[in-house]
Parts: sequence; structure tokens; C-alpha cells
Amino acid sequence: MRVLVVSDIHANYPAFESVLKDADGFDAVWCLGDVVGYGPDPNACVELLSEQPNLVCVPGNHDIAAMGDMPSESFNGDARRSLLWQQRVLSASSLDFLHSLPHQIEITEKVTLVHGSPRDPVWEYILNTLSARLNFLEFETDYCFVGHTHVPSIFSIDAEQDRVVLDIPRIGMPLQLNQRAILNPGSVGQPRDRDPRAAYAIFDTEALTWEPQRVEYDIESVQARIREARLPERHALRLGEGW
Ligand code: ZN
Repeated sequence: MRVLVVSDIHANYPAFESVLKDADGFDAVWCLGDVVGYGPDPNACVELLSEQPNLVCVPGNHDIAAMGDMPSESFNGDARRSLLWQQRVLSASSLDFLHSLPHQIEITEKVTLVHGSPRDPVWEYILNTLSARLNFLEFETDYCFVGHTHVPSIFSIDAEQDRVVLDIPRIGMPLQLNQRAILNPGSVGQPRDRDPRAAYAIFDTEALTWEPQRVEYDIESVQARIREARLPERHALRLGEGW
């Protein structure tokens, strides 16, 4: 089965549409949360996501906050302003969808899905080998797919040498997964690795390969929608540069 793995769509509809088109021909979509937050089109993104084949999705911190299940004080100034806006515009059916999501899923005997980390599915960022090492103890499957950092990354554990290694994902190069690994596809709607293109990955459940991908989308149209909605200017600017 060819699985499209996406995360942190963040209400960026053109980015999500481009990813779906570029990934072309997948059997399932696994989404690692933060469907809403920051961007101008939360309802359209939820709707498009919910139409995808064999969809599995966990909620992110922004999704949980947008549902009102977390104090908005947990977010900084700009993120909070955007959050209150999301709460105002989210439709009843979007809220129903978000409410239906479980925080952590063991999707096959091989893969666990969470937003942040297996240790703290909502908030922890796995950014370095130290936090990856601690988290390898917290899930049972061979692989754990995470989002939240908005940075594509691959942490694998070399059990013999008892070492955790961070690999740089190479775009379009399927990586054979031989060891236990924590994998992050990067962010569809708000990349933070200085590459403004939307990020995603293709996971092949039989071949056990992970293929990191990037695709361009119409950033200016999203920036215009952010300004139209009077969302923070910072959230428009960062899309152009990928931070
Ligand atoms: Zn996010």
C-alpha cells in the first residue's frame, strides 16, 4: 500500500491541494495533526482531508485548542490571535471531525502515529537525537511517524551500537527502513526549514520505504487570504521564506 503521510497542513488549502496532486496515486492518507491553526482556510482543509481514501488522522495542539479543549494562554501572541479566529470560523462539521480524532494510533503492528511524540502526543518536539532517544522507549512498533516541528527528519536507532542517528531526508530518494525509526514528513502548510515548498512523504507499507517530497504551491494567494482575514502579518511573511 502506498501511503501519503502529511502533517501540519495549518489551514493552507493551496499547499494541501498541491500535495495531493503531486503525490498522485496513493491508497491511504495518514495525517499527523494540526490540520487547522495559522492559515486562512481551516474548514476547506478539514473537508478536503476528510474526503481522502482510508484516512487516519491524529489531532495536533492547534486542533485541540481550536476545539476549545485547551486554554488559549498555552499559545503565544500571534498564534493565540489566529487561534481565536479559528474558533470563530470553524464550522460544526469541522469541529465534529476534529472531536472524532484519537490522540495516538497504532495503525499497523509496524507504525505508531502521533502529532508531537509518543511520550507527549500533543506538545513535545522531537528536534534532536536526545529527545528521539528518550522517545524510542515509549512506543512498541518499529516506526513512529510524528509532526509538530515542521522540519522533515529521520531519526533511526542502531540497536547494536546503541546509538541514535539523525539522517537528512533527500527529496525524491526512497529510503529503505532497516532499523527502528522516528520519521517526520515536515509540514504541508507552514514549512520551517527555510524551504518554503510544501513537504510530505510517501510510505510504502510492503517495501518499507520512506520517500520525502516537496512541491511548490501558490504562496502569494495564501498570503493574500491571510491579509484578507486580518490574521497576523507574520504568518503571511513566514510562508514566503519557510520559517
Ligand atoms: Zn504545527
